[in-house]
Order: sequence, then C-alpha cells, then structure tokens
Amino acid sequence: MLNRRVSFAVLNPATEETIAELDQAGVEETDAAVARAKEAFPAWRAVAPADRARLLRRLATLVEEHGEELAGIESRNVGKPIGGARAEVAMVAAVFHFYAGAVEKQYGETIPVGGGIDMTFREPLGVVGLIVPWNFPLNIASWKLGPALACANTVVLKPAELTPLSALRLEELILEAGIPEGVVNVLAGPGRVVGQRLVEHPDVAKIGFTGSTEVGRSVMAGAAATIKRVTLELGGKSANVVFADADLEKAAAAAPYAVFDNAGQDCCARSRILVQKSVHDEFLDYLVEATRRVKVGDPQLEETEMGPLISAAHRETVASFVDGEPLFRGDVPEGRGFWYPCTIIEASNDDRIAREEVFGPVAAVIPFDDEAEAIRIANDTPYGLSGSIWTRDGARALRVTRALETGVLSINSNSSVRPTTPFGGFKQSGFGRELGMHGLAGYSEVKNVYYATED
Ligand code: NDP
Repeated sequence: MLNRRVSFAVLNPATEETIAELDQAGVEETDAAVARAKEAFPAWRAVAPADRARLLRRLATLVEEHGEELAGIESRNVGKPIGGARAEVAMVAAVFHFYAGAVEKQYGETIPVGGGIDMTFREPLGVVGLIVPWNFPLNIASWKLGPALACANTVVLKPAELTPLSALRLEELILEAGIPEGVVNVLAGPGRVVGQRLVEHPDVAKIGFTGSTEVGRSVMAGAAATIKRVTLELGGKSANVVFADADLEKAAAAAPYAVFDNAGQDCCARSRILVQKSVHDEFLDYLVEATRRVKVGDPQLEETEMGPLISAAHRETVASFVDGEPLFRGDVPEGRGFWYPCTIIEASNDDRIAREEVFGPVAAVIPFDDEAEAIRIANDTPYGLSGSIWTRDGARALRVTRALETGVLSINSNSSVRPTTPFGGFKQSGFGRELGMHGLAGYSEVKNVYYATED
C-alpha cells in the first residue's frame, strides 16, 4: 500500500496568507513518537540532576538568544502584536530558567515511624502527552515542558494544528541545547487524531491539556481507560469586580486589556465586568474612553495592541454572541485578516454573553448592588479560572477573594500568570496547577519507602 502523505497549510490570520505547508501527523506518527519517547526515558531519567538542570538552563538561554525569531514566528502564526509576542517569549525563557533551578530542589521527606526509617522519593511518570491550544502556543507549551523535563519525564508535544510553528522551532532548540533525541517529540496533526491517540495510548502515563472544556471532558473520559493522570486547564468566564470605592480611572484604564489582550482569546479574560451600581455610569464612560484608545491593526507594528482572531470560523463563533446594538464597537482594519472589533455590551448574568466563553474581544458589563450580590454573580458560572477585585478597602478585598470560587485572583490588578506562582482553575475550568513549584506535582509520583533497621 502506498504511504500517502497529507499536508496542511498554516496561515497568518492577519493576512490570510499561507506561511507554511506541513506534513500532517496521524496515528502512525503518534505511535512512533511515543515509542521514541519511551526508548529515551531510561537514559533521560538517569541524567544527574545537576546535568539536567544545566540542559534546561541552556535551553532557556537559547530561547533568549532566539527571542526575536520566536516572537516573529508567534506573531505571524497567531496574529499577536509583536510587543506581546516578545513578552511571551521572555516568559518562556523565564519558565525554563525557573524549572532548571527546580530540578535540584525536589526534596523527599523522612517520616518518623517505629522499627526503621521511612522516606519519600519523587519519581517521574514516564512518557507524558502535552496538548496545547492555539492562543498562547509557545507559552503554554513551556508551562508543561518545564516541569515535565525537570521531573525527568519524556514528552510528546502536540501543538494546535492552527499554530504549530513555534513548537516545531522549539524542538530544534531543544536538540541544540543538548537534550537527547527522543526526549521531546513534537507532532503537528489534528487533535481528534493525534491528541486522541495520545489520550488512548497505553504507554502514555499522563496528559497535560489546555483547551476547551468540551475537549477537556473527552480527554478526562478517554484517560479513564488506562487510569492516566490528567491536568486540565480549560475555559473561563472570569469576573472583574469593580467596587464604588475603587480607583475608577485606574480600574477602567486596565479593564480593556483584561478582555481584549490577545484579541480576547485568553482563558483568563475578565470578560464579565461587574460594576457597583452607584458608579456604573461613571465607570462606563471611563471604560468606553479607554477601549477607544486600544490600537487595533497590523501585528508587526510596534504600537499595535490588538490583532485579528485566529480564523474565519472562530470569527463567526465570536460574532454569534453579539446581537443588537452594543454599547460600544471599535474599528478594525479593512481588507484581509480575521478582524473583530473591541465590543462592550450591557448585560445581565443570565444572558448567553455572560454564561459562555466567547474567546473574542467582547466584554459584558453587569451591574451589582452590594458586596454580597457581587460575590453571588461572580460565582454564578460553571467556570472558576481567574478574576480581579478593585477596591481601596483591604478587608473587603480579602473577604471577597476568599469567597470567590476561582483559582487565580488579583487585587487592583489584572495579572494572572507568572513563572513562579501556581496557575489553574476551580470547577469546570479544570484541575491541577501549572507554574511555580506546584507545577512539579503534576509530573511526578510520590514513592514511599520503609527501611527496616531493627533485627
Ligand atoms: P480545543 O479544545 O479543540 O483545542 C485544544 C487542543 O486540543 C488543540 O491542540 C487541539 O488540537 C486538541 N484537541 C482537539 N480535539 C481533541 C481530542 N478529541 N482529543 C485530544 N486533543 C484534542 O479548543 P479550540 O482550539 O477548538 O477552541 C475552542 C474553544 O475552546 C475556544 O473558543 C475557547 O472557548 C476554548 N479554548 C480555551 C483555551 C484555554 O486556554 N483554556 C485555549 C483554547 C481554546 P487541534 O486544534 O490541532 O485540533
């Protein structure tokens, strides 16, 4: 039988031009990649921790040295503004530096018992499958690769078919860093084929997944057959809660970037803006003014703050959320590209726009009366990924953060992710934590050993 190669086109969403044609991996290639990772595992886990740390450090340095190239790839393939893409690549390097430092800090314990000594070890899982979405391709890959490699696992990494280019380049840098062949294997192919095969494969011990809640559910169900470990980082519908006593101008100036960054294609997007009724109109005036200033256009220009959506199909989905005349709709460039304007809608928390993840530059503004109602509305969602609280009252800030059912919160800020701090969701936003020392727990098993010392 002829082995027919299937190729697929990778587009620049800002121009709709084809920027690469790639061979598409299928089940056969997935099985071969898992076999390579399995073969590479014993030697990789035997590498001395200090040497593994050095290899990760070298990878971090190579990412820094190739920062401009990687940012350019990411900007063209995802339509990201080049400034944002540079910041993301800097974070990738910081993540590898952090996990290089973590390799030698995974201590075990000794536990007091009678008749002997009890101790714990952290053991690698073996081959792990990492499935990554198209919104932050290189960044999210690094959040999984860093701890997976630090814990001495070997990896099959599947980027989204829409955005495989940065992961493929990273694979070359991984080899250049001296990490042995077979330790990291990148596959460009469709999720329902390559991703699903990784989920089913008996030699894959764990799936680290970021993507939609719907596919997350199927990953979790599929993993049950082989009792695979899973980490799921899924959708969000996060609240940005603005109390009347907040610095309104500051909160309003920051709010657009908490929704429209990455054209709203961000699981942490604070896309429900909850505003206390007594300052609702004043805040909206500031918000509209701040949103008007968001610079939408060519991602290659330094001043651009928002680019296009990832695809024509995704633009249709986003558009389906907006009916009627919104409170505000911004401008977009004319001509080719999957553009969608910054949009602000006044809503109730029962409206579809407030219930489902839009994953586009559309914000819903929802009024509330008092603290109790703010907490009720913020928690009235199946998701629980991130959120913000804006207030000058420190006690209220802490009360509200403790009451919110969400994994990542910021007070008087919209920041969500740092290489050093844990990131992940409550409820249907998933489980397991990435980044920081917490990220290591998902890529190792605790082994308990009892050593009898008495005759
Ligand atoms: P998906 O969940 O479909 O894709 C995420 C990753 O999973 C991709 O690599 C994809 O591969 C892969 N995948 C798809 N199907 C399967 C499967 N059956 N088994 C294993 N892996 C699979 O998200 P979409 O890209 O379609 O985005 C849809 C929506 O999901 C967005 O509009 C947004 O609401 C949400 N989303 C949330 C993200 C987050 O960061 N939490 C990230 C991305 C999306 P491939 O794309 O190659 O088919």
